[in-house]
Formats: sequence, C-alpha cells, structure tokens
Amino acid sequence: MSFRGFLPRERFDTLFSILHKIGAQCIGPTVKEGAITYAHLSSSAQFPHKVTDQQEPGSYRLTPTTDARWFAWANGPQALKPLVFAPEEILWRSERNATGTIAFTTDAAQMPLTAVIGVRACDLAALALQDQHFLHPQGQDASYASRRRQLILIAVNCTHPSASCFCHATGDGPEVDQDYDLLLDELDHGFAVRCSGATGEQIVQQLSLEPLQPSQLNEIDNANRHAAEQQTRHLPATDLEQVLNTLQESGRWQDIAERCLSCGNCTSVCPSCFCHSQHDVPAADGITSTHVRQWDSCFTQGHSYIHGLVIRNETRFRYRQWLTHKFAGWIRQYGRSGCVGCGRCITWCPVGIDVTEELQGLTEEYNNA
Ligand code: SF4
Ligand code: SF4
Repeated sequence: MSFRGFLPRERFDTLFSILHKIGAQCIGPTVKEGAITYAHLSSSAQFPHKVTDQQEPGSYRLTPTTDARWFAWANGPQALKPLVFAPEEILWRSERNATGTIAFTTDAAQMPLTAVIGVRACDLAALALQDQHFLHPQGQDASYASRRRQLILIAVNCTHPSASCFCHATGDGPEVDQDYDLLLDELDHGFAVRCSGATGEQIVQQLSLEPLQPSQLNEIDNANRHAAEQQTRHLPATDLEQVLNTLQESGRWQDIAERCLSCGNCTSVCPSCFCHSQHDVPAADGITSTHVRQWDSCFTQGHSYIHGLVIRNETRFRYRQWLTHKFAGWIRQYGRSGCVGCGRCITWCPVGIDVTEELQGLTEEYNNA
C-alpha cells in the first residue's frame, strides 16, 4: 500500500481520539516490570520514552537512550497471542436438571473493539499462523474467532531488531507487508502513515495528514534496509524438515537436555504456539460444571500423557518434539514452518538455548553423516 501522509509526533494523540470515537479500546507498548509489554493506554505519554532494550540468549534488559523515538526497541516477551488465544478461559458450562438430563451452554468470548498499536511484522506473521489453526475451515474456534474480529492492527515497522531476532531469515520481517489496518514508520518528528482496508481508510480520513517529503521516504527505505542488515542470526540454508525427521535419534537431543530445564518458557513466549489442555471443574453443588481451556506446553509431562503413560517422559524427547514440530511438522500441517523469527524463545530461555544454534548443529551433523 502506498504512503498516505505524515502524522507529526505532537498530533499522535489524535489517533487515540479517533480510535476511542469509533468505540475501540487501545492497547500499546509501555514499560512495566522492567520490560516493554502491551497494556491498555490512553495517550502516547504512556509509550516507552528514551528507553531501548538489550537482548541476548537468556537475557533481557532495558537501558536508557538519548533516542527520543517511542519505538526504538525490539519486541518484549508478549505477543498478540494472549489477546486472541486466552491463557485460560471457560469453553462451556454444563448443568444437570431434576430429571438427570445434562444441558450444555457455550461461553463464546466477548472482547470490545481493540486497537493494538505498535505491532511488529513477526507478530503479524504469527497471527496469520494462528488464524490458520484456530480459524480452520473444518473447525473454527468460536472464542478465538470472536476476539479476532475485534482487532484493529496498527503496525509500526521495526528499526531496532535485537540480537535474538532472525525474522529476515524466516521471511517474516522486519518490514510489515500483511494484515494491518494502519502501518507507521517512525521518523524523528512523527510518523509516515499507510493504511489497508475499510477501517484503516476510515481512520486515515480523520487524521489530517501532512504531505511526506522525498527525503523522508529515503530515510524510511534506509531504516528498513538497515533493520534487516542488523540481524546476525540465521537459519541453515537447507531442508530442515529432512534434517529433523532424519535425526530423531541424534545424541544432540541429550546434549540439549543437559541444559534444558523443561520449563516451557519458550512455548509461552512463542507467538505461534497453540498447545493447550482442557479440564472440567465441577462445582460443589454437584449439579454444575465448567470446562476450562488453559495454555499448555509440549514441555509438560501431562502434555504427552496418554492412557496411563507419559510418552515423552524425558526432556530430550520434549525438546525434540518442540523443534521438530515447529520447523518440520508445521510444514505438512500448515504449508510453512511455525517460526516467524521473533527470537523470544532465545531471549526468554533461562539458560539461553538458541534454536538457530541447535538447528545449525543438527544440520552439520546431517551433512557429515
Ligand atoms: S520458535 Fe522462537 S523465534 Fe520462532 S516464533 Fe517461536 S519464539 Fe519466535
Ligand atoms: S529450551 Fe529453554 S525455555 Fe524452553 S523449556 Fe528448555 S530451558 Fe525452558
């Protein structure tokens, strides 16, 4: 989509006013508990100010910066996932009546119209993956679908990838090219604005944008190119599906298990992971019960419990499952890998296990075999 104009920084809060006027709550990045996370916001004053991030395997730190831009940082731990796929929710309720018949009622999620400001390319790609799963034509998830319809996505191109990022390697970033309503590029004094679809057009019409200068367009081009060049992590240029499916008995899985705590952090922060468990919570009245869905992880024992047996009873089998599903199984299921290169599993792994390094090691083992 082509640029529609320039929104000066001092008029950014007009965007909040327009979003509130159309009935949307606003969620955006802010500094909370030492990290940049999404929260309900009412003005740009709550965006991160003069702060940037430093990420490494197993390490995340906010540091002061003289850069006055509001989006001079890479994604924090939180993706769009919790907004559409709730960490815990009731799917249905059951009630036994006097004749012993059980009646079921579903609890379809209700979320107000919600504008998310500051979404990055990797998270839009992950949302597209979650759409494939939860909006599958053969079984749409009602709660996910209901929340997804309420999202207005205001993306901001990422110009400060972290040392953990590799979205250029998966082809999902750092430049946004899909599924946004508004797309912003941050410049010193404001934002270049693009839009897509009817909602985006409706917002842009009310923003009273100023013309963009050719020098600003050059600056945006350079910033987007530089963001891709800054990324130092890569994926092996090989058929990872073949490598992973061939090396299921590799000794490397045990090497990883010596370090891996089976904590499941990587799957919690991963924007595309969708594993969950379901259980019933009977009330003390003996009549009613709720059926609850919670996020689960392939690193928990319960996730592979089948008929009295934990199938993946050792950490090496669980890490193998995670990596093989993410980079091989997804290709058969959804036509592409389940990784969008956000780097969160690298930063937020307490022992700094790095998927790109493990995939490189497995590829070398495969090539040497
Ligand atoms: S596997 Fe890691 S890098 Fe890839 S999408 Fe998930 S968290 Fe991000
Ligand atoms: S790879 Fe890291 S984050 Fe994932 S389960 Fe193992 S220790 Fe936890």
